[in-house]
Amino acid sequence: MNRQDPSQEPPSSDRSRVYPTSALDEGSKSATADFDCGGGKEAGLPARPAWQSIRRGLFGRCPNCDRGRMFRAFLKVAGHCAVCSEALHHHRADDAPAYFVILIVGHVVVPLALVVEVAYMPPYWLHAVLWLPLTIGLAVGLLQPIKGAIVGWQWANYMHGFDPNAPDDTAADPMEGSWRKSKN
Ligand SMILES: [Zn+2]
Repeated sequence: MNRQDPSQEPPSSDRSRVYPTSALDEGSKSATADFDCGGGKEAGLPARPAWQSIRRGLFGRCPNCDRGRMFRAFLKVAGHCAVCSEALHHHRADDAPAYFVILIVGHVVVPLALVVEVAYMPPYWLHAVLWLPLTIGLAVGLLQPIKGAIVGWQWANYMHGFDPNAPDDTAADPMEGSWRKSKN
């Protein structure tokens, strides 16, 4: 029972260049085809449906296979998909998830607070009891889905290190600690 097959696992330095596309759903092309062409069209790369990738990211799934988990912790994106080995660490979501969460939560909570104030004029402590938990709950609940959607969108458009033609410092795996060194 000595199972040794070195061909099973590609060298770690090559994994970022592996872009399996067989899992992409060819039947999902629709009226959104223009948006769905992604950034790979001009570069001759396989098209990645943007809406499908965004939806998969929204549910915390790998944008490539829809089976693996995108996150290894609440807001930590996994280095690679555990199912299809797609490299996910190339994302540069940065503070975009927080920006969109603030935008959405603000547009929900502020109108609600205004309507309740105008209609009922409740005491301020009741405002605090109502809107503070709602604000925190919405913000915490939306952060991961929105970050997942942004990562899926970046993946679909071959942005940053998701582009196989990206410079090496962009394509390097930060989990391996090499990209910070390359900047210094
Ligand atoms: Zn996957």
